[in-house]
Amino acid sequence: IAQVEFEKADNENLRSPICCIMGHVDAGKTKLLDCIRGTNVQEGEAGGITQQIGATYLPGENLRDRINRELKVHVGLKVPGLLLIDTPGHESFMNLRSRGSGLCDIAILVVDIMDGIKPQTVESLKLLKMRKTPFIVALNKVDRLYGWKTCHNASIVKAKNQQSKDVQNEFERRLTEIIAQFKEQGLNSNLYYRIKRGENEEKREKEEKGEREETISIVPTSAISGEGIPDMLLLLVKWCQRDMVEKLTYRDKVQCTVLEVKVNEGDGTTIDVVLVNGVLHEGDQIVVCGMQGPIVTTIRALSTPHPLKELRVKGTYLHHKEIKAAQFIKIAAQDLKNAVAGTDIYVVGPNDDLEVVKELTMGDKESVMNRIHRT
Ligand code: GDP
Repeated sequence: IAQVEFEKADNENLRSPICCIMGHVDAGKTKLLDCIRGTNVQEGEAGGITQQIGATYLPGENLRDRINRELKVHVGLKVPGLLLIDTPGHESFMNLRSRGSGLCDIAILVVDIMDGIKPQTVESLKLLKMRKTPFIVALNKVDRLYGWKTCHNASIVKAKNQQSKDVQNEFERRLTEIIAQFKEQGLNSNLYYRIKRGENEEKREKEEKGEREETISIVPTSAISGEGIPDMLLLLVKWCQRDMVEKLTYRDKVQCTVLEVKVNEGDGTTIDVVLVNGVLHEGDQIVVCGMQGPIVTTIRALSTPHPLKELRVKGTYLHHKEIKAAQFIKIAAQDLKNAVAGTDIYVVGPNDDLEVVKELTMGDKESVMNRIHRT
């Protein structure tokens, strides 16, 4: 039954959500992504990578597998996949904009259950609030509770039920403390399965009147043994498909932001971009904002890391004739050396006037430059 429902729902035209992982250093952001991917970036597969933006594409079939295998729930998967972005310098990534809105659709805020809210958690909360980015909390490292019995990749409800009374009490004690810490930051939060149905719908109405009352979902996780990870993925998917349909509707108009400009030996300069919406093709004529004016060029090659592979880990890239949003893409083309990171690129369509597109492209250069200088 589950399979049939998934297939039926696949026809709806949503793009993959872009999900940022945030939180205090050592809370387990990298490890959590490792656990989702089944890789080992945290222990040095990528050697000293922690200062760059990382990105991983989690295809729908993997999401489906992870959720179905453990939770045995029938949720129709409408998003093609999930693009996970690990941003060590949260600030600069959160400052990026595409056509006026932030690049990340949702976020996972990772909090260490043993440590609670730390200064960088508060910083992350500020950014999330400022950008109005919806988020869930992964209350990580539950396996560190004294006496925790490991239940590999189990749903958190099942895992929790298998613990001794002492462990359960300790869990509740720490949870209550952390909920109180969030309250101090002006946020209501609760274990995701203790939030009553309809509770947030009611609260959202109030919020429209100016009060922020929505209850943030907390999902306890272990990035080492995988408890709670299927719950977390299910929560993200359900939430995107229920509450973010408008934002995640696939549109043909290309929306694409330059993250980094790289001069590579061998194949010249490439740009790393996030394709937020639309589709890019090899051979597309594009206009990129350059230091000295608009750069008009043609896409020579489009490549991405392999699905489930971390962008920062050296390895082969997959080449694509065309690629649909949302994705993290490396574009090779001529004359990209002076491209400005943080600006949007434009595709010149058959009916477009190149001069108009050039003007559009240069339009946001100044505000991007200002933002870059400020951060
Ligand atoms: P980041 O700085 O937030 O990316 O944190 P890392 O992913 O690098 O993790 C910091 C340390 O905590 C590493 O030694 C991880 O192995 C460890 N760690 C992360 N998640 C867990 C967890 O769920 N359980 C336990 N026991 N250790 C964890």
